[in-house]
Amino acid sequence: MIVFEGVHKRFGDSVVLSDLDLAVDPGEHVTLIGPSGSGKTTILRLLMCLERVDAGTIRVGGRYLSHMHRRGELVPADEKHSRDVRRRIGMVFQQFNLFPNMSVLGNLIEAPTRVLGLSRAEATERAAELLDMVGLAEKIDEHPARLSGGQQQRVAIARALAMRPDVLLLDEITSALDPELVAGVLRLLRRIGDTTDITILCVTHEIGFARDFSDRVLMLDGGRVIEDGPPDQLLREPRQPRTKEFLAAVL
Ligand code: ADP
Repeated sequence: MIVFEGVHKRFGDSVVLSDLDLAVDPGEHVTLIGPSGSGKTTILRLLMCLERVDAGTIRVGGRYLSHMHRRGELVPADEKHSRDVRRRIGMVFQQFNLFPNMSVLGNLIEAPTRVLGLSRAEATERAAELLDMVGLAEKIDEHPARLSGGQQQRVAIARALAMRPDVLLLDEITSALDPELVAGVLRLLRRIGDTTDITILCVTHEIGFARDFSDRVLMLDGGRVIEDGPPDQLLREPRQPRTKEFLAAVL
């Protein structure tokens, strides 16, 4: 579902991703871990087309995201092409990023009506179902500022799901939450993981969550995947000294 091949990404003189290969199967739940600055967020931003690769290719659902075919050649993708492929990807951010001037319902129906062309009635029905699933049905007319951080994050998750994505990207989505609100968000994600076949790629420092949510954990260091394995092995008995060191520091 997601394939990075030989991806290089630089910011000025600093190389952030270096010849990165990465593959995520359909329906798989993969967690990226690694020290700050190792390139985890850059991987998600490349998938959202918020950044462009300097070299290498990215495919999502079998289609190039970074490139397109023109006259038989593979050339860097233009905006329209990337937008088209990117439509299959939803993302939830650390800071929720809800539209502050819209109600919860407005947040949930904006993209489905504008981008997918759903009618307001269809989008509203889908929004109500999703709000029910995230346990916030009664907040449908509320404004985001009147919700707790945990509630806002559950709305942001519902908003991402309203686009029926094939891939969901989660960037440190519990880092901005008070500790007592984290469990509810993680419980919701487990339920989404158990009840949908969405492919999920997440960046988290919640090692406990990574352990029971992920099918596979990738350890990043210096812009490459230095260790790749099932959570029980990688998080309990890492093979690489860098992984051991990192886990000792965060656990
Ligand atoms: P992580 O998510 O693993 O902490 P990031 O992907 O955010 O790492 O960042 C990797 C490196 O790239 C960091 O050194 C960061 O400072 C740098 N970086 C990220 N985005 C930019 C940018 N837009 N401009 C310049 N440097 C950036």
